[in-house]
This record gives sequence, C-alpha cells and structure tokens, in this order.
Amino acid sequence: MPGAWDLIKEVEPTDGDPVVVNPLNGEAMRKLDIGGVKIDRCETTGAIWLDRGELGQLALLDARYKGVIKAIDRRRPDDVPRETRGPIACPRDGATMLIVRDPDDEAVEFDVCPDCGGCFFDSGELGELTEYSFTDRIRVMLGRG
Ligand SMILES: [Zn+2]
Repeated sequence: MPGAWDLIKEVEPTDGDPVVVNPLNGEAMRKLDIGGVKIDRCETTGAIWLDRGELGQLALLDARYKGVIKAIDRRRPDDVPRETRGPIACPRDGATMLIVRDPDDEAVEFDVCPDCGGCFFDSGELGELTEYSFTDRIRVMLGRG
C-alpha cells in the first residue's frame, strides 16, 4: 500500500492555470494532481483551492484517491474561524467570496466565489466532505447556501 503522497503529482503553473495565492497569508499555493484532478494547496496552512468544476471531478474519483485527499487534508487547530476572519477575496478575480455552510453540520463550510465558482477550503474541510456522499452533500449546501 503506497503512501498518500506517492499517488500525488506536483504540476507546474501555466498561462491557463497560473499560480493561486492563498488570500489568507499571501503565499503561492502548490499545484497537485490527484487522479487527474488539479488542486491548489497551501503548504503552510493546508488550505485548498478548487477551480469551478474541480469539486465535481473529485467526487467522481475512486475511493483510493478520495482516501488520498482525506489522508493529506487534516484540520489544523490554528485556522482562524470564518466568523472571526469574515469574507475573503477570490484569489482568481478578487470578488468577495460567499461562505457556504452545511445546514446539517455547522463544522462543514467553505468559501465560494460568485464570479468564477472557485472554492476555498481551510485545512481539513475538503477531507471531511469526502466522508459524506460528496455530490449529494454539495448539492444540498449550494442549494441552500
Ligand atoms: Zn473568483
């Protein structure tokens, strides 16, 4: 059984997919390929950025790759809660992002950009989402958020 990081490839930024800067600390996020889906992850805080459509692509991955996400994405206690930090600016276009919260589980929340559809997750949030039936969960959250 290979370790989670053995199933992840690091990819370089391109003109079509430039570097994403973590809006919370100004650091360039690393581009990681997990089962063909490219995500951006902050090495320092563990925050994850997904462009529009990537959440759906992750949902279609097999259990092995979902396990990879869960293995690398653990909640860190030093994250500043959203109620404290407030809305953040989209790292792609600067729009004010909206906070989406699961009505059935207050601990499950993320930021979504109303302009480009990108999503920002604090450490552990994406990993926790993969524990649920993912697509159904997202549909409920976006529908009511
Ligand atoms: Zn945006």
